[in-house]
Amino acid sequence: MRVVQARNAGFCFGVRRAIETAERTAREAGGAPVHTDGPLIHNAHEVARLGRLGVHPCADPAALPAGATVVVRAHGIPPARRAWLEGLGLRVVDATCPRVAGIQRICREAAAAGRRVLVLGDAGHAEVVGLLGCAGPGAAVVDGPAAVEALPDPGAPVTLVSQSTQAPERFRETADAVRRRWPDARIADTICRATRDRQGELGELAAGADAIVVVGSPESANTGRLASLAAALRPTVVVDSAEDLRAEDFAGAGTVGLTAGASTPDAMIAAVRARLESM
Ligand code: SF4
Repeated sequence: MRVVQARNAGFCFGVRRAIETAERTAREAGGAPVHTDGPLIHNAHEVARLGRLGVHPCADPAALPAGATVVVRAHGIPPARRAWLEGLGLRVVDATCPRVAGIQRICREAAAAGRRVLVLGDAGHAEVVGLLGCAGPGAAVVDGPAAVEALPDPGAPVTLVSQSTQAPERFRETADAVRRRWPDARIADTICRATRDRQGELGELAAGADAIVVVGSPESANTGRLASLAAALRPTVVVDSAEDLRAEDFAGAGTVGLTAGASTPDAMIAAVRARLESM
């Protein structure tokens, strides 16, 4: 099969930076283990590769010895959690994506001004948890216009932000619903450029392909969003690795469009591409 690969497939700037930070921290540790506060990124293959370099996800930082090093992942953490980690005597290395840090800053400033922050995002996702931790009391997560309409009146001016990887169309609909209810609301479109480019390229990819393959981990929210947007355009197959590909899923397909989530390593994309080209 012929494969057309998206220009923006794979690691975004923030994920690449977090991985480089973890690798550098491991080198500086000279063989001592380096921990990450939860998995550094949502990709088991990359987490396993980092494990071979001495970087390990930690589920319970309270069990680590004082002085141990903990890397904060690209998604960021709430300020209270950072204070807790430091209070345990751990050395905290911050690999929060600067763009996520920027959204956290908007949340902090809105909360300090007495505003109610609404976050368009996936409840429970690490980035959203971090944003809520900066957004003060009364902050809420919404997943679209219906959730905005169902909110009780916040009794304060409203600021809307977005998780960095939400779909722009969903943000537009949500912002419209917010403006209808609170015409004086502040709307901060904080969807990341990397997300826009990746999702925006799907139309072009689909136009020249019979099917789309999205490479990424089942735990990756942005991969899931990319896959559902792709599925609206062309038959779409989501795989975590080349081993997941099945020839029968591509019967009659001459050209396949290939893209990948923001936490998918280049090596996984290359392996999937090679396997598709061999079919
Ligand atoms: S998607 Fe954007 S904001 Fe989120 S980690 Fe990647 S570069 Fe940073």
